[in-house]
Amino acid sequence: MERVIIIRYGEIFLKGKNRDYFESLLIHNIKDSLEGLNYTFTKSQGRYFIENYDLAIEDELVDKIIKVFGVYSISIGQKVPTNEEENYADIRKALVQLAVETVESTYKKDPSFRVTVKRADKKLKMNSAEIAAFVAGDILRAIPNFKVDLDNHDFEFFVDIRENGKAFVYCGVIPGPGGLPVGCSDKGLVLISGGIDSPVATYMMAKRGMKLIAIHFASPPYTSEKAKEKVVELRNIVSKYATPIKMYVVNFTDIQVAIHEKCPAELMITIMRRFMMRIATEVAKREKCGAIITGESLGQVASQTVQSITCTNAVTTTPVFRPLIGMDKEEIMAIARKIGTFETSILPYEDCCTIFLPKQPAIRPKLDYVEKVEKNIENAEELMQKALDEMEVL
Ligand code: ATP
Ligand code: MG
Repeated sequence: MERVIIIRYGEIFLKGKNRDYFESLLIHNIKDSLEGLNYTFTKSQGRYFIENYDLAIEDELVDKIIKVFGVYSISIGQKVPTNEEENYADIRKALVQLAVETVESTYKKDPSFRVTVKRADKKLKMNSAEIAAFVAGDILRAIPNFKVDLDNHDFEFFVDIRENGKAFVYCGVIPGPGGLPVGCSDKGLVLISGGIDSPVATYMMAKRGMKLIAIHFASPPYTSEKAKEKVVELRNIVSKYATPIKMYVVNFTDIQVAIHEKCPAELMITIMRRFMMRIATEVAKREKCGAIITGESLGQVASQTVQSITCTNAVTTTPVFRPLIGMDKEEIMAIARKIGTFETSILPYEDCCTIFLPKQPAIRPKLDYVEKVEKNIENAEELMQKALDEMEVL
């Protein structure tokens, strides 16, 4: 008997003639995420198999695979010879062992199960249902209080009989993240802050197959080194799903001070966003990113009204994706918890947006007025150039 991790992939089935490309990208991303671990990878009949690994690393393998976009679900099982001549002796032995382990792990008094057999090998004498009934008998004999219930069972045991004389025996399916393999949907530049939303936005675009680069605006000494480390940590957490994310850190202090000195206080945030967007547009161009991504959600704060977004969008012709635009904070927080960014996001470090914050930011800024007052910053080009020149890459 050998342990095996069975990987099923989802949506990329739909991609017709692009399927080979999507598959090779998915395989590449799975292997990348498992770098440094010893195992063998095989592919057969629309499934991938991870085998020949040390049991001690199984949890780590699973943990990494279920973060790869494009993976639909996985199961952990045993690989055994089909062995029809000996009445499926190996399958039955593996199944009983699995059933015993499963029952030991439950507190349920009278647990129920079913066996589901899938048979790719059509030469076998018995059909799937007959094999299922036959092998289920062993389980019933081995565990007296285990009952069969085809419709309402606590456990489902699967026997997957392949064409090559091998079969997989497993119980339970662990859901993967779904989505498309990262890299199949071009590149995007994500504006990442230390907040809850932008890491979630990053995750969501990566889920649609986008390869991401991040940009963060810091305002030292008003923002601390700790605040920057927090953003780096958030980047590291989402990278587990999104594949490695290169990050630019822009020193935004001089620009913010200039806005604070030269522009009406209530437009501070609007104008700040416009400068962020201009710099992001230039970085996106250099990095060949076809889109800019933000974590904005409509109406969440003053800078996220239609009018504010209009003012921000006006400085760029690069498409801006806002994957959270229609989501409630609660929904965003649920995803942040699921992907493991929440605890880091709520650490109390200052963000550049919190300095020079006006008491009453404009909720409906008017674009022509914003454009007019922004001209007060006469050296804007110079300041932006300097910020771009001194940008740090992580
Ligand atoms: P987040 O939780 O992502 O910080 P938020 O609800 O705090 O979002 P804002 O602070 O208004 O909202 O920011 C809106 C978006 O602007 C963020 O989601 C992010 O994409 C971008 N952004 C804000 N501050 C920064 C920053 N310092 N560096 C990079 N991007 C930023
Ligand atoms: Mg924020």
